[in-house]
Amino acid sequence: MGKGFFNVPVAINEPVKGYAPGSPERETVSKQYKAYFNGNVDVPMYIGSKEVRTGDTRTMTPPHDHQHVVGTYHIGGKAHTEEAIATALEARNQWSQMPWEQRAAIFLRAAELIAGPYRAKINAATMIAQSKTIHQAEIDAACEFIDFLRFNVEFMSDIYSEQPNSDDGIWNRVEYRPLEGFIYAITPFNFTAIAGNLPASAAMMGNTVVWKPSDSQVFSANVIMEVFKEAGLPDGVINMVMGDPVEITNTVLASPDFAGLHFTGSTFVFKELWKKIGENIHNYKTYPRIVGETGGKDFIIAHPSANPKQVATGITRGAFEFQGQKCSAASRVYLPKSMAEEVLGYVKEDIASFKMGSPEDMSNFITAVIHEGSFDKLAKYIDQVKEDADAEIVAGGNYDKSKGYFIQPTVILAKDPKYTTMCTELFGPVVTIYVYDDADWADTLKLVDATSEYALTGAVFSTDRYAITEATKALENCAGNFYINDKPTGAVVGQQPFGGARASGTNDKAGSAQNLLRWVSPRLIKETFVSPSDYRYPFLG
Ligand code: NAD
Repeated sequence: MGKGFFNVPVAINEPVKGYAPGSPERETVSKQYKAYFNGNVDVPMYIGSKEVRTGDTRTMTPPHDHQHVVGTYHIGGKAHTEEAIATALEARNQWSQMPWEQRAAIFLRAAELIAGPYRAKINAATMIAQSKTIHQAEIDAACEFIDFLRFNVEFMSDIYSEQPNSDDGIWNRVEYRPLEGFIYAITPFNFTAIAGNLPASAAMMGNTVVWKPSDSQVFSANVIMEVFKEAGLPDGVINMVMGDPVEITNTVLASPDFAGLHFTGSTFVFKELWKKIGENIHNYKTYPRIVGETGGKDFIIAHPSANPKQVATGITRGAFEFQGQKCSAASRVYLPKSMAEEVLGYVKEDIASFKMGSPEDMSNFITAVIHEGSFDKLAKYIDQVKEDADAEIVAGGNYDKSKGYFIQPTVILAKDPKYTTMCTELFGPVVTIYVYDDADWADTLKLVDATSEYALTGAVFSTDRYAITEATKALENCAGNFYINDKPTGAVVGQQPFGGARASGTNDKAGSAQNLLRWVSPRLIKETFVSPSDYRYPFLG
């Protein structure tokens, strides 16, 4: 156990590198991209000390070049999942007793490895697997992941130092035990940082984990496991399994030792998981913690006092970066009639200037959407608009999947504020705009609040402080992250803790101490220095 009250290094946000033409970081990442692209990685499952290769493999192909194979990964089934659970439980015996500063050191080392020798690898892998531009890869796979690791160490130490008062003659202390059992982490395709953070945050607090990454992110998930291993994370603390999500999940949730779910992904899947956990509740040794961050239908509302160019930039960046595949991406916009035309004009100019293609060509701002399923779904919505009378496409509207899954950034103008694309999460480079009468500002705020089941992010643009105050109040419950005069994307760890309510999730704020608190079960220890030896109180005479 510790022999000192250790101060952790002060966490600061990792500076974002620029990757300008001629910069050394651009050269390094381009070289790594080529090496991965022309290589053939064989990704195993990681169970304890073993790299498990079942021979039952799936290929990995970049979304922007779907006929090009960059590697394979091995999938397992029920038996492998059971082995991963048993391994996690076995590893828990030692890991849960490891002094916290040793755990902290491992994850701080992981952060330094990503900041240094693994930066190009994790960025290039994310460019290939998830079709991110270098800038999108850098702010996610490198910077956000590093920030999660460094800030969580600081939050962990803050949590441990939170202690009760003690009266004369006694000493009260709280220890923050890991949960009894193991944690199940299920991660989405869209953020390498989330894929790493979901298992790592639970592990940092002393838990052991079974982690199931998204099939579309395995290529970069493998780099995460390489980093954890090189950082010295003991075998069995994080076990990565791949395969049929339903089979793996049913196996995990059938275990009496299942102690918590750390999920990020779509709303429907999360609700199904919650239901299954409920159905199994009598089998568990403890009440499982359920943490889930899910979908969004994130809004921008402009007040007539807003600056039209700033609103347009908020839309362009908020809706189209990473092809709108951020849970926080702006996808419904409310513009006052007095400025709609001007804002739309700027947005169209921006779209006309976008280049679309492979992230290897760093002049491309738009790359491909994640897979064929997503492409087909988006194409269907676009085609439907072309048929419908109550909406029209005013920019974009083309798509092509011959080489990669490319959807042209698209702006829909809806006459009906409840038109399907104003309410449904599409998760692509498609934004729908509704134009309201300037006089209807207050009613439009009510409309924003009542249009979607989600409550993840949202933004108001205005130069009128009364209007900002009114919007902040009226929209209190429809965004967990609310932005004033800024786009609704781009939350930074340690600055804008992230999460939403309503159907968007449990709002446990990734990148804050609140999230880490879900992975511990505090034990209060009261010690009395001289115990009473007579039961009688003075009042008894
Ligand atoms: P998804 O729900 O399709 O998949 C997420 C994970 O769940 C994957 O690992 C997948 O294999 C697994 N999964 C799928 N079906 C399952 C099932 N029946 N049982 C168990 N596991 C299952 O989501 P995605 O396409 O990877 O990610 C996009 C979604 O994630 C969007 O809805 C987006 O809004 C959301 N998201 C939310 C946040 C947030 O912080 N709120 C962040 C990122 C992404």
